[in-house]
Amino acid sequence: MKNLKLGIIGQPLTHTLSPILHAQIMHQMDIDGVYCKYPLEHDQLRETLQQLGQEGVRGLNVTIPHKVAVMGLMDWLSIEARLAGAVNTIVFDPDTSQPGNCQTKGHNTDIAGFARSLPPAIVNRLPQMNLLIIGAGGSARAVLTALIQQGATQITFAVRSPEKMVRLISDAEIMKQTFNSQCQIKTSPLLFMPNLNEFEGVINTTPVGMWPHTDSSPLSLSQIETLPKKAFIYDLIYRPTETQLLSQARSQGLQTFNGLDMLIYQGICSFELWQDRPVPASLLSSLRQQLTQAMQHIID
Ligand code: NAP
Repeated sequence: MKNLKLGIIGQPLTHTLSPILHAQIMHQMDIDGVYCKYPLEHDQLRETLQQLGQEGVRGLNVTIPHKVAVMGLMDWLSIEARLAGAVNTIVFDPDTSQPGNCQTKGHNTDIAGFARSLPPAIVNRLPQMNLLIIGAGGSARAVLTALIQQGATQITFAVRSPEKMVRLISDAEIMKQTFNSQCQIKTSPLLFMPNLNEFEGVINTTPVGMWPHTDSSPLSLSQIETLPKKAFIYDLIYRPTETQLLSQARSQGLQTFNGLDMLIYQGICSFELWQDRPVPASLLSSLRQQLTQAMQHIID
């Protein structure tokens, strides 16, 4: 008998690494459970969520394309889910006022996942750093929330569609109020940034360079060459583990990070919400290893 019932909703779910991640966490924490894939169309969401809650499912991850749509189906939303404008984790809690029913709680663990993936040496320097975020989609919103929460004071967005920044800039005001931040936020068209020498940290939140389009990069080599030697580059992409952007940055001697730790930490944060207890930090290296191996299979 399996005790813990978990899963993921999205469409398609062919390449998701979450089942492997959570199976490993359960295995290593000696928890008897299952993590199932539920590929769903939009019009199946409401009914299926109700059904899964009644079947005793404890929680779900939510992925593309349902992260925004499920917000309207939740009984309760965390402050992070509201700020990120997306839910990636659902917790089914028993409804004490109506026995047999469930309350659906929507969370966003991409914010904490990104924050926990940053090394303490970088977090400590965030207030002094001038940061560049490339892209302004869903993950950029989570990254922005995390950076404001962690004390960043200067952030520039490099985007190809500046008109899409209007909403994000206005939502950033709510993020700043929430975390009592004075962070200055600017926007710049990416193509018109030949010189990046003022930035000590660059975070790519676009899919540019993601497998199978691995020979593309959101920055040219000549742009990378203008970055200061102490700068770091963080690419949210984890497939491949080293994008062209990271490879060129590393060849310039810059510190580089891929999106694997963010992926792992957002999963760990989800699991901690479902189980209400911490996942031991000692699991991190084996989770990295397992996911890297699994990705190799998918790419091959
Ligand atoms: P999204 O909501 O679709 O946003 C993508 C952003 O990238 C948009 O601002 C888009 O601009 C921009 N963009 C796309 N193609 C571009 C190009 N050729 N040149 C310049 N900008 C471009 O996607 P997302 O959910 O944020 O995900 C983005 C990436 O982050 C994906 O690779 C995903 O796998 C990764 N990710 C990783 C994690 C993790 O845990 N490591 C978590 C979330 C996401 P327009 O608005 O102009 O289209």
